[in-house]
Amino acid sequence: MSGPTFRRRSRSIPREVEGPDETPLLEVRALRKTFPVHTGIFGERGEVVAVHDVSFTIPRGTTLALVGESGSGKSTTARCILRLIEPDAGQILFEGTDLVQLSARQLRPYRERMQIVFQDPFSSLDPRMTVGQIVGEPLQVHRVLRATAQRARVAELLAMVGLPPDATHRFPHEFSGGQRQRIGIARALALEPRFLIADEPVSALDLSIRAQIINLLLELQERLGLTYLLIAHDLLLVRAVSDWVAVMYAGRIVEYGPTAAVYASPQHPYTQALIAASLDGRTAPESETAVFGPFASTGCPFAPRCPRAQPRCRDAEPPLEEQAPGQRAACYFPGALDPTRPAG
Ligand code: ADP
Ligand code: MG
Repeated sequence: MSGPTFRRRSRSIPREVEGPDETPLLEVRALRKTFPVHTGIFGERGEVVAVHDVSFTIPRGTTLALVGESGSGKSTTARCILRLIEPDAGQILFEGTDLVQLSARQLRPYRERMQIVFQDPFSSLDPRMTVGQIVGEPLQVHRVLRATAQRARVAELLAMVGLPPDATHRFPHEFSGGQRQRIGIARALALEPRFLIADEPVSALDLSIRAQIINLLLELQERLGLTYLLIAHDLLLVRAVSDWVAVMYAGRIVEYGPTAAVYASPQHPYTQALIAASLDGRTAPESETAVFGPFASTGCPFAPRCPRAQPRCRDAEPPLEEQAPGQRAACYFPGALDPTRPAG
């Protein structure tokens, strides 16, 4: 059975998307975020390192996909980028400006330029507001547009995402999941952002309509020159729509590179397992929680599950190193898995 098809521009990234200015739209450097946790019957305090030394770059007009099982730190990374939560350390360079250093006031114009589309279109839209109010709200909060101009802009946004004009007077519950996600996208686009984070935008939707929403996002990307951070579970979808992929495991990026290269030759055993599972039609293996508990362990966090693990892997954590041009993996024994040869 063949999967859904995605309308996609040519796989090669045209040079001009970056423009004369080579500054990437977004660069994340050494991002770290921990959360305090209480564990054990005496309520001992510990911490979860949700994001551990995460770095990546997204050139203008391209899509970086962040993949990895549930709990690996993808949403926390996204929330730090938008500064919905404060990172413990690291830099978030948006067009060269470090957002981490900005005051709430200085951050305001950047808030308009970066938006997020959430996973669950059922809980992310206020049920008491009409669609027109939901989509128009960011315009009200951030700018003074006259009422007529605002109505016109809302109508334009609804058309852009393929919703009928009369949607504006209706309420979210009158719409299907796919249509609600269109409403969320229209709202995200209201302030003409340049960067969109889509956090599992289709995971909550029926399989049959996922491709429609993804195709809409791709169309909008081309039309508006948007840059995307796409958080996704579906490795086949990621292959079809992203330019770059970063694989997260236990808060770390364990593999990172151009999508075509990573899929053609995944270097990290975890990436290999994810890709193999997706090709079999299985979903990504769900988190076996204790793998990275609240307590830091030494060595490679994947070692307890890794078919190639050697004593060295348990002693010290492997650094994320270049294995092929532009492609990095954090593994002492990277490369194709040859079952006839013992690891190491
Ligand atoms: P993902 O989006 O990849 O599923 P998350 O970023 O949501 O992963 O979570 C990463 C880790 O951080 C998980 O262990 C999660 O339990 C923990 N975490 C996320 N948010 C919080 C929070 N607000 N308080 C405590 N722990 C959190
Ligand atoms: Mg998440």
